[in-house]
Amino acid sequence: MAEETIFSKIIRREIAADIVFQDDKVTAFRDISPQAPTHILIIPNKLIPTINDVTEQDEAMLGHMITVAAKIAKQEGIDANGYRLIMNCNKDAGQEVFHIHMHLLGGKNLGRLLG
Ligand code: AMP
Repeated sequence: MAEETIFSKIIRREIAADIVFQDDKVTAFRDISPQAPTHILIIPNKLIPTINDVTEQDEAMLGHMITVAAKIAKQEGIDANGYRLIMNCNKDAGQEVFHIHMHLLGGKNLGRLLG
């Protein structure tokens, strides 16, 4: 069994977070340490530690994460100018929280992907 992270507590609303969207499959909330004017994390309600752990059963939920990201981008007013979606896997990518999450970043020119 994978160990829960702080994100499971956010999903269950046991600790405070600025949740912008939640349904039966995913939860989205503002990153506590924003790297851009809009920085929102979209996560599955189900605990999946890393992208290495996804299975074919997760495909609908993973697609839903992108649909939700697009809706939030529109709500945030960053859809026309653009935004970036990032998912980090394990140490070389700098993954810190082992509950998969998609970063939605925008609201400024984000520059080149790897700086
Ligand atoms: P990653 O490096 O891809 O694992 O990203 C983890 C992200 O989670 C970082 O951007 C953190 O700032 C963010 N984060 C960690 N704890 C919280 C929290 N309690 N509420 C919101 N965002 C968080």
